[in-house]
Amino acid sequence: MATAQLPVSSNVTEFLSRPRKMLVNNQWVESVSGKSFPVFNPATGEEMSRVAQGDAMDIDLAVKAARAAFEKGPWRGMTAAERARLLWKLADLVEANLNELAELESLDNGKPLTVARAADIPLVADNFRYMAGWATKLEGNTIPLSVPYTPGAQYLAYTLREPVGVVGQIIPWNFPLLMAAWKLGPALACGCTVVLKPAEQTPLSALRLGELILEAGFPAGVVNIVTGYGEAGAALAAHPDVDKVAFTGSTEVGKLVLQAAAGNLKKVSLELGGKSPNVIFKDADLSTAIDGAANAIFFNHGQCCCAGSRLYVEQPIFDEVVQGVADRAKKIRVRPGLDPESDMGPLVSQEQFDRVCGYMESGFSEGARALTGGKKREGKGFFVEPTVLVDAPHNAKVVQEEIFGPVVAATPFHDLDEVLPRANDTMYGLAAGIWTSDISKAHRLAAELRAGTVWINCYNIFDAGLPFGGYKQSGWGREMGHDALEIYTEKKAVCVRL
Ligand code: NAP
Ligand code: MG
Repeated sequence: MATAQLPVSSNVTEFLSRPRKMLVNNQWVESVSGKSFPVFNPATGEEMSRVAQGDAMDIDLAVKAARAAFEKGPWRGMTAAERARLLWKLADLVEANLNELAELESLDNGKPLTVARAADIPLVADNFRYMAGWATKLEGNTIPLSVPYTPGAQYLAYTLREPVGVVGQIIPWNFPLLMAAWKLGPALACGCTVVLKPAEQTPLSALRLGELILEAGFPAGVVNIVTGYGEAGAALAAHPDVDKVAFTGSTEVGKLVLQAAAGNLKKVSLELGGKSPNVIFKDADLSTAIDGAANAIFFNHGQCCCAGSRLYVEQPIFDEVVQGVADRAKKIRVRPGLDPESDMGPLVSQEQFDRVCGYMESGFSEGARALTGGKKREGKGFFVEPTVLVDAPHNAKVVQEEIFGPVVAATPFHDLDEVLPRANDTMYGLAAGIWTSDISKAHRLAAELRAGTVWINCYNIFDAGLPFGGYKQSGWGREMGHDALEIYTEKKAVCVRL
């Protein structure tokens, strides 16, 4: 496995060559403290750039800028169509810079360049365009009143949909730019202003997006990007002048965000972890289901909140399916993301590498066996082998906890009545997969699964129009689709006596 640095475009080399500043009020600024922090290449473990280290002081300046932009200034006075045009322009700029953004994403996160090009960046552009369309369609209702204690009086009553205000957005490292787009698109369509806090592991593509936001012509203070560690996120979640916080990340930190938000009762939406069941019945098209099960866990190195990390297979086809998934896993070329032959890059960080390896060890100590994988790769970079575990008991950590790596735990089942309670027996409820040719069974199970997304005979299908979010401890609220407008707007009732 080669871990050497592969060539990137001159724009990316130039972008990495200077320490990156933060975006506050349309200015690129150093952190107030003057501190910066390193950004590592996960394929080598080496430092490749530095980024300003924002903390509570920087968050405060960014919130002030976002507040001023929300209360007055050109943003507030813009028509919905003008906001839509800016978002559309941003989507065009994302597409025009697709290769550069994909290279940055691959370098920073470790994901294959081919995947960033084909999936992450096109989805970013789609998302901005889809949300641009909603800006002009934020309608209210008219409501007939029958007020019993004002007999004879006539009213006109209607509702207005208004932006929730200054929004703090905290995002993770698994799809750095796409998570920024999921957050920024609807917030800007609705007329909010934003302070965005990217993950410390992957701040680069958001900062490049900041340059494109300036190029598109967004007014000062509408989008502010503060890079930093978790303390910056915590300051944003706690800030008394932030009206709403939108968070994607671990369930553990999601609970901290919720507590911090209680101070001024800011609105909260959370997109948290998962341990999603993927259920294959014996009447499924096996080759498609095996491919699908492999994709469900190995896509993005398993660093997906919706990863199909618990595989349930009907008994008669269990051996064939798990062997099939293991065979697919063996063919995955684990290489640096920039290598054109990479199917899977390194995990994002040393911390994730240690965490995933720790889970594999815990699986073995709790009785699991690896059909394939189960090991880290020696040498530079945070590479682990795609892993298929069998024989793990239901209460093993590898079956219950989110690993966030390319590790699937497979278990056989006898029938729907047995698998359903087991599939639902988790604190999470983000996604689920069903593979069968029996359409009635598929829909019966889809209705019973306690999950925000159910994929039938497919997995990991995302679209800007399809709402995404979690039941149970997988989150609050929905992103994407028109549901995303709910979390960035307030509804005002207006009542007029005629
Ligand atoms: P995390 O700690 O939840 O990080 C998510 C975001 O929250 C990052 O921007 C992080 O900043 C920020 N943050 C950290 N502490 C905060 C606080 N007290 N208040 C507000 N924001 C805070 O996730 P992680 O440590 O990167 O990953 C740990 C595990 O979380 C993973 O192994 C995985 O299981 C899960 N995870 C889930 C998702 C998902 O999409 N649901 C995504 C990523 C991770 P820093 O980056 O500076 O810490
Ligand atoms: Mg963290």
